[in-house]
Amino acid sequence: MTAMTDQATKRVLLAAPRGYCAGVDRAVVTVEKALELYGPPVYVRKEIVHNKHVVTTLEKRGAIFVEETDEVPEGATVIFSAHGVAPVVHEEAKALGLKTIDATCPLVTKVHREAVRFASDDYDILLIGHEGHEEVVGTSGEAPEHITLVDGPDDVANVEVRDPDKVVWLSQTTLSVDETMETVRRLREKFPSLQDPPSDDICYATQNRQLAVKHMAPECDLMIVVGSRNSSNSVRLVEVALEHGSKAGHLVDYAEEIDESWLDGVATVGVTSGASVPEILVRGVLDYLAEHGFEDVKPVVAAEESLMFSLPNEIRRDLKAAGMSDKMRHDGAFAEAGSLH
Ligand code: SF4
Repeated sequence: MTAMTDQATKRVLLAAPRGYCAGVDRAVVTVEKALELYGPPVYVRKEIVHNKHVVTTLEKRGAIFVEETDEVPEGATVIFSAHGVAPVVHEEAKALGLKTIDATCPLVTKVHREAVRFASDDYDILLIGHEGHEEVVGTSGEAPEHITLVDGPDDVANVEVRDPDKVVWLSQTTLSVDETMETVRRLREKFPSLQDPPSDDICYATQNRQLAVKHMAPECDLMIVVGSRNSSNSVRLVEVALEHGSKAGHLVDYAEEIDESWLDGVATVGVTSGASVPEILVRGVLDYLAEHGFEDVKPVVAAEESLMFSLPNEIRRDLKAAGMSDKMRHDGAFAEAGSLH
């Protein structure tokens, strides 16, 4: 094959949707607005969203990320991350006299409410999710006596319930749809009366990003997913790509992490990004690929998204009182701000 033909066959398939979801956008804007409104420092419990670039950029503007509420000075303002917190964390903050702003994604809050409701009806709740993930810790904290964590299909064998006729499954919002369905299938084999959640717990953003990858993967020699290692939905995108036919798949925070050897013999590269990733990082990857002969970029659109959440009530109230805008902005705004990095 001549070098010219090589050049002609090189292409990028670019997933849509990709990147920021409504819950991440809301959480990041919450921290930005809090910094404008109250001035730095503003404390944030845990990473506001699981993305290294977002966290470092906000740190430069005066956000201080802490692991636990008791690291926040008395009377200061603390923002709870998009992944949600257990009720005990709210109680701790109250005891310390902290002003709290809850940036929990409304779709995570929905799962918390389901847990509370099924627990009050005395169900055993099988929460499918990854042990130790912040979202799972928060949801489990709503009803610790009633919730058993099921960490994937192989964990089903260990699950015990009090009454097999009164059992329901719920899930973390950012799981692999296919793997979760396999876990549910095995759970149902064991507990035939298992109830489904009232609506999908795996959120629209997770599902849509996986769907786009499934469409692209069979044609890809390589899938590059932009996202951080602690981002559950980003890690899942690499797995989904490999399961659905991509010959290779890698997760990168920045274009600089791409190893040139990954492109050896590659004609088609798929590119996507996790729900906590600003678009500027994807642009960096596309620029890198263009410099390596992959200038032809074809979008692969699996779904249209228009969902947007309003800011948490606590900050809307304060913004209004200060005569400042409480409008959400498009995620492109953060992409520009992200160039501070
Ligand atoms: S990934 Fe889904 S649940 Fe998580 S913040 Fe985004 S919209 Fe909310």
